[in-house]
Amino acid sequence: MATEAQHDVVIIGAGPGGYVAAIRGAQLGFDVAVVEREETLGGTCLRVGCIPSKALLESSFRYEEAKGSLAEHGVVVEGVRADVAAMQARRAKVVKQNTDGVEYLFKKNKITRYRGEGRLTGDRVVTVTGPDGVTDIAAEHVVLAAGSEVATLPGVTLDGDVVVSSTEALEWEAVPDSLVVIGAGYIGLELGSVWSRLGAKVTVLEYLDRILPGMDAEVAREALRVFKQQGLAFELGARVTGVTVTGKGAKRRASVAVEGREALVASKVLVAVGRRPAVGSLGLDAVGVALDERGRVAVDAGFRTNVPGVYAIGDLIHGPMLAHKAEEDGVALMERLAGTPSEVHYGLVPGVAYTEPEIATVGQTEEQLRDGGVAYRKGVFPFSANGRARALGHTQGRVKVLADATTDRVLGVHIIGPRAGDLIAEAVTAMTFGASSEDVARTIHAHPTLAEVVKEAALAVDGRALHI
Ligand code: NAD
Repeated sequence: MATEAQHDVVIIGAGPGGYVAAIRGAQLGFDVAVVEREETLGGTCLRVGCIPSKALLESSFRYEEAKGSLAEHGVVVEGVRADVAAMQARRAKVVKQNTDGVEYLFKKNKITRYRGEGRLTGDRVVTVTGPDGVTDIAAEHVVLAAGSEVATLPGVTLDGDVVVSSTEALEWEAVPDSLVVIGAGYIGLELGSVWSRLGAKVTVLEYLDRILPGMDAEVAREALRVFKQQGLAFELGARVTGVTVTGKGAKRRASVAVEGREALVASKVLVAVGRRPAVGSLGLDAVGVALDERGRVAVDAGFRTNVPGVYAIGDLIHGPMLAHKAEEDGVALMERLAGTPSEVHYGLVPGVAYTEPEIATVGQTEEQLRDGGVAYRKGVFPFSANGRARALGHTQGRVKVLADATTDRVLGVHIIGPRAGDLIAEAVTAMTFGASSEDVARTIHAHPTLAEVVKEAALAVDGRALHI
């Protein structure tokens, strides 16, 4: 017999979309419940995605600095070695701090948590099956926030050992001697960087003739050049047709077949060819929730599915599969349910690859402007001409500002360089307020900071950069 419960809002999934929606809903006075099958809260991002990858990126970068560039600062370190087990213990600790943090926020906001798998079983009813038994939760509003799962390729089976997704590649206790990464997107480049810094021979295979699709092509070209300098090997235009694993125990090896080319042999293969909406276990068929042509939950501008009372947000729906976009979806939905008009600026979702240097983007790329026939002006400024970047010893990269040729409104900002992920926030703010490049150029930036490169690039739109 199922236990019965009732709440104003029930959310399936405690990732950045679901847990932030829950907090905002509670702030607005709703009685909110969240269903999550994993023991810890925070979803892919906190448990096996954004947070652990950033921890390992940082540790591996420190190791690389200790081996090399610290000497330039007159810091002499001898006998440097990577203690991967210690790095992994730190990664686990950082993850726990974050997942515990969400648990604390749930308590603080009086959000009820149900452990188990939640599925739609009736009109605004979610049935939870978990370690504590079966519970039917009736709610006025049901929010689907189940996120996404790893996509694979035909002929490629993930075995969790040799052929893996990012989840396993974040937890290796030893450095693989060779690693083939399939896909030069966010995950491939971030985790490829981690294991390359720690000593693996990394080859990245990318189907397209460029890396980082979706990012500005000029910036992506510069990124490719820098990654190659760092020792990553790339094969572009490479169509993987299958992966076979041979050998036993520690001798297991994967052979990656690429159309028209010689197969690559490696001790590990990381499949990073994207993610797909996790629609499988939600009981969508039971109540007739419709999907769109790309297999995502179809929603209108108010996150409403075709079934009354059922909403969807985050990676399940349209838009980039990014944690911060999911959070904004969750906030906007709850505010709409509470009667406040609220919407997400989908054209202004920043994207960041946390490689070294970082790569960050917001708004339209130069290709998009060209293809759309938009007349624009472009300002570029290199970090090599910035005092703070020189003092830091991180002078690679540049900021590019694209502004409308007639109105001067900023249409896109693309950065490759130190702390690009933090610098992009200024561009997003400026663009959210409809700023012109002149506005950014006339904004006082503290000296000496990396942010001055953004200002100089804005000045460069009008040919007025000062320090070059
Ligand atoms: P992605 O979409 O960023 O990149 C996938 C890459 O794989 C693309 O370059 C694509 O062209 C390539 N590819 C596709 N099929 C291929 C094939 N058959 N052979 C070779 N290459 C192929 O996906 P991802 O890196 O797997 O990341 C998954 C999701 O997680 C993305 O939606 C991403 O936004 C998100 N993510 C974001 C961050 C971040 O914001 N820093 C970090 C990690 C993941």
